[in-house]
Amino acid sequence: MSSLSTFDAAQERAFRRRAFPSATAADWADWRWQLRHRIRSGRGLERVLELSADERRALAAPDTWRMPLAVTPYMLGLLSRETPGGPLRRTLLPDVREARTGKGERRDPLGEEAHQVAPGLVRSYPHKALLLATADCAGFCRYCTRARTAPAPLGGRPGAAPPDSGRALAWLRRHPEVRDVLVSGGDPLVMSDARLEHLLRALRAIPHVDLIRIGTKTPAVLPQRITPALARLFRSVRPLWLSLHFTHPSELTPRAAEACGRLLDAGLPLMNQTVLLRGINDDVETMRRLNERLLHLGVKPYYLHQGDLAAGTGHLRSTVARGRAILRALCGQVSGYAIPHFMFDPPGGGGKRHLFPGGGRGGD
Ligand code: SF4
Repeated sequence: MSSLSTFDAAQERAFRRRAFPSATAADWADWRWQLRHRIRSGRGLERVLELSADERRALAAPDTWRMPLAVTPYMLGLLSRETPGGPLRRTLLPDVREARTGKGERRDPLGEEAHQVAPGLVRSYPHKALLLATADCAGFCRYCTRARTAPAPLGGRPGAAPPDSGRALAWLRRHPEVRDVLVSGGDPLVMSDARLEHLLRALRAIPHVDLIRIGTKTPAVLPQRITPALARLFRSVRPLWLSLHFTHPSELTPRAAEACGRLLDAGLPLMNQTVLLRGINDDVETMRRLNERLLHLGVKPYYLHQGDLAAGTGHLRSTVARGRAILRALCGQVSGYAIPHFMFDPPGGGGKRHLFPGGGRGGD
């Protein structure tokens, strides 16, 4: 089976000593240190990365960004291994084209605001709710659907009212027909263990909530967050499913593998959701490596999303035809387990649609 992305301990140490000379190995392994030292400006990146003219132009114009810039020191190490315009850079660094709103694009492409039933709680289906636990993320993906709730790029107030889990929980207690809650945001794993524990235990105490899921990109951009204490907390509130968000095989480093292993050891099923991104992962070889390596780590490639019609993301959105062609090519080349469902969320909401039958001739 396929090997991991090469960013091993020695390479990581060499990068830390060069880019963060005062940081110790213990700092580097501490998720809170990583969060505190996120790079938030072009100047911070320039210090370490060789930037292209396009990257410099976009970084110099923060008023055109659709999302804030946030890169953990750990991710900066991965970005430093790419040439300008590399795939991981394109997922995290701003682009001047973000300022353009293309045809049909919307600020709230899934119509979540219209389905909000309490602050920070969206009823996505009759039996299912989405709890937006925080507006913050360890790193902000440039293609995010929920840019409207992220903190403003230049600081200041978040784009929407801060989530109020108390009122969301009260609403859930009154609605026994809702049996499935996806905790998302932002990224819930940037919250402290204490806040997460309070939220998860409160959800677990609602008798009709059968299924609790967490959507997170943290194992990709801040794998240090998956501490033994967090794994113990998760184990104690099982059954709990995690929906991870790896988009490119270069994110599958030894540290990310260790994070996934710790979650698996805690008894959590791990599923992955990926967005089909133009020039980043929309080719057969990249998608094959990503999905085979995920399987190797015990993570099921579950959904491949056609990019939502989120304002300012046209330059990153691939095409349905290309997604189908990639999956057709993969069928028969890889295990059926490595073929995700190809999905699209129509504008305004109303539920996901399948764009590819899935499985095909891959065999199990
Ligand atoms: S981690 Fe999730 S919520 Fe945060 S920016 Fe990325 S896609 Fe959006």
